[in-house]
Amino acid sequence: MADKIEQREVGVKYPDLVLFGPPGCGKETQGNILIEKFGYVRISTGNICREHVKAQTPLGLVAQEYMYAGELVPDKIIIQMFQEEFKKIPGDASPLIDGFPRTEDQRQLFHEMMTKEGRDYEVVALTANTEDEEKALVERLVERAKTSGRTDDADPDVIRNRLKVYNEKTGVVLDRWKAENKNIHKHSAIGEILGISEWIQKEVVEKYSQRVKDVLDQEIS
Ligand code: ADP
Repeated sequence: MADKIEQREVGVKYPDLVLFGPPGCGKETQGNILIEKFGYVRISTGNICREHVKAQTPLGLVAQEYMYAGELVPDKIIIQMFQEEFKKIPGDASPLIDGFPRTEDQRQLFHEMMTKEGRDYEVVALTANTEDEEKALVERLVERAKTSGRTDDADPDVIRNRLKVYNEKTGVVLDRWKAENKNIHKHSAIGEILGISEWIQKEVVEKYSQRVKDVLDQEIS
């Protein structure tokens, strides 16, 4: 623990973060603010998939079939893509992981990778639990489709399927984390962008930095 904190104190002042939540919950928007403010390095598996599709790589050719249907890309493929990107993160940078893990197998692999690297991480979950909140997400995505040019945003049926897949396959990842006593920072995805980002900053980033500082102070005294 002490080694890790010393190492992080030199170059890294912020926690590694997983931004978790259903499509349209604002992971990308919140991520942009955190990157701007704290210099996080983003790994977005959605973006990685889109790059592979654009370049028509062998992985992209398989992934696109699933993406256009609003389904999850198979674990074997997405894990390979994620591992390649993860390797590129400098040791002293704080990663901001967006869109991964989305299944229990991904979660276990992710946890192992982080542990192996001596990295702890905080999970921020932006939630939409009521019918009204889900409706608001679909509206956001339909609106986003007008400018994003994302093929998987263009069809409301595909959007609804992505939410269904999230509820059936991805939500369970949070339950598993909780069962393992992982502390999850939850906030409704419906709210002012700046209000939510201030909450992430205060509740997650600053509290983490304070905890690191307290441990260091204790070690010195
Ligand atoms: P959204 O959060 O709006 O669904 P993303 O950009 O995160 O958008 O993901 C777009 C698509 O990329 C997903 O619908 C899925 O097909 C694929 N994808 C992204 N991340 C994963 C993942 N961790 N596991 C499986 N498929 C993924």
